[in-house]
Amino acid sequence: MAIAGIDLGTSNSLVSVWHGGKVELVPGETGSFLTPSAVSIDEDGGILTGQAARERLVTAPERSATGFKRLMGTGRTCILGGRPFAPEELSSFILRRLRQDAEAYLGEEVAEAVISVPAYFNDRQRAATKKAGIMSGLRVERLVNEPSAAALACRMVNHGGSFTALVFDLGGGTLDVSVVDCSENDISVLAVAGDNRLGGTDFDQCIARAYCQKNNIAFDSLPPDLRADIMFRAEGLKKELSLRDSASLTISEGPLAGSLEADQQRLVDLCAPLFQRMGQPVRRALADCRMNAGDIGHVVLVGGSCRMPVVRQFLSQLLRREIDAPFSPDTIVGLGAGMCAGMRERRDEVRDIVMTDLCPFSLGTGVSHEGGDLLFSPIIERNTSLPSSQTKRYYTTVDDQRTVAVEVYQGEEMLCKDDLCLGVLKVPVPPAPAGTESVDVCFTYDINGILAVDVTVTSTGERFSRVFSDSGNLTEQEVGARLEELASMRMHESDALRAVREKVRRLYAQCLGKDRETLSRHMERFEKNCENAGLSQKKREIQRMEALLAGMDRYVSGYGRLPSDFEEVPEDGSTPLQ
Ligand code: ADP
Ligand code: MG
Repeated sequence: MAIAGIDLGTSNSLVSVWHGGKVELVPGETGSFLTPSAVSIDEDGGILTGQAARERLVTAPERSATGFKRLMGTGRTCILGGRPFAPEELSSFILRRLRQDAEAYLGEEVAEAVISVPAYFNDRQRAATKKAGIMSGLRVERLVNEPSAAALACRMVNHGGSFTALVFDLGGGTLDVSVVDCSENDISVLAVAGDNRLGGTDFDQCIARAYCQKNNIAFDSLPPDLRADIMFRAEGLKKELSLRDSASLTISEGPLAGSLEADQQRLVDLCAPLFQRMGQPVRRALADCRMNAGDIGHVVLVGGSCRMPVVRQFLSQLLRREIDAPFSPDTIVGLGAGMCAGMRERRDEVRDIVMTDLCPFSLGTGVSHEGGDLLFSPIIERNTSLPSSQTKRYYTTVDDQRTVAVEVYQGEEMLCKDDLCLGVLKVPVPPAPAGTESVDVCFTYDINGILAVDVTVTSTGERFSRVFSDSGNLTEQEVGARLEELASMRMHESDALRAVREKVRRLYAQCLGKDRETLSRHMERFEKNCENAGLSQKKREIQRMEALLAGMDRYVSGYGRLPSDFEEVPEDGSTPLQ
């Protein structure tokens, strides 16, 4: 049984496998390696994922969601079609889909996955990711930090060699910066820093707001469908600006009517607050490992947002160097995750590689002080390499104290109430005057995110232990029940045809008049051609339609000409779309 490597992204996800002595990315429904991390509930209750679901963010926003990775581990839910879903559940639909794609690709069962997570994910977010894996029917023994995965893949492309890399990952929702040391067979992360509220979507929002402001539209009071529509088009304009110096967005009719022109400088101005925040994690990561920009051998660009020339330029100025990007920024984490899967399968080609990871947050306990609130006392500091075991001694604070409560916290805040509480271990101590009895508290944290806490009462030598594991906190029974429930929900097959239909539906909603009629006729012809077609004929039809729709998309979004082949459709029936 195979193990898959999965990059479970905010916007897009990828799956890769170890195959024929190397890592391979698995193509999804439409032949693309990227599967949009979007879920939509069909009108008949079925679950759609990927491109089809992404299209429905515009046509059926109340039934669709994306970006739920940002909610992982928060306890918040998303309402889709009137039914609440935990972000873990929505992620599990994506994972299930990726698992199926990988199984179809390999022709064998995939039972386990290595999933990448942002280095900045805390214990709860990691636990939520594992839970999503379990709910999709995958065993998840190992999570890998995204920058470590990227560095691993970068090293592979560089055919080994030793260098220090700065990994700059700007995806849809988060920014992760890390400094990674790659020597012969050893990959170790030296420092991580990030901003888990800064990503490509924030650029889309800046553009959408600027558009609305210029055209007197109140962005904050837009209904969900119009808001999704303008965000979609803003993202389109942003991507257009990755291809050329200037571009414009024009919507000729309807409640969003207006226009916005932008060039690179305008983009920088519109998004100035984002650039201000972008430099901080870079400086912090370098400072944490006492390096400066000159010590960095390679800058590894990761994440779709690194396709923006303004981002590269910003980095180039910040680090005072040329930035070359030999890899595709949106697949490199997926490749690295696949290598980790190969390492778990103990494949010959990668069995000698050792990965050391860092603890991305501080772990410690609370100590009382006169002010009242518990103060955080770190035992394992952020950026300690893993596995790590550290001990600290604590004394009783009142006369005849009977128990010491070792509360376990994770975070970087001075007051425990602002950190994340992972639990408590209560230990009895012999009564004695304050400050005479003591306990040795030992924290051991390993690469799989399991924290073992051992407390020894120094006067008696008695030991107490508890393991805080992030394996999702689900009991076997709960998992079984959940799996059964999910099995009863109908998942739509990974389906390129469905993705085309949903895209047409979205474009239809976004355009008007004659364009709608032409679109309907194209669709009608497409459906007719597909009806009795064989598999390969159908594939060709889908490809032809996708190409046409891509041009149409740019035109409808207001920054391209009407594709010349768009008007060629014969003038027979003009039945509108359902
Ligand atoms: P994540 O890891 O969060 O899933 P990705 O690495 O897939 O994210 O990046 C998604 C982000 O990249 C989105 O915000 C998307 O708009 C942006 N993006 C993708 N392609 C481009 C491009 N050509 N130019 C600018 N931004 C892009
Ligand atoms: Mg990513």
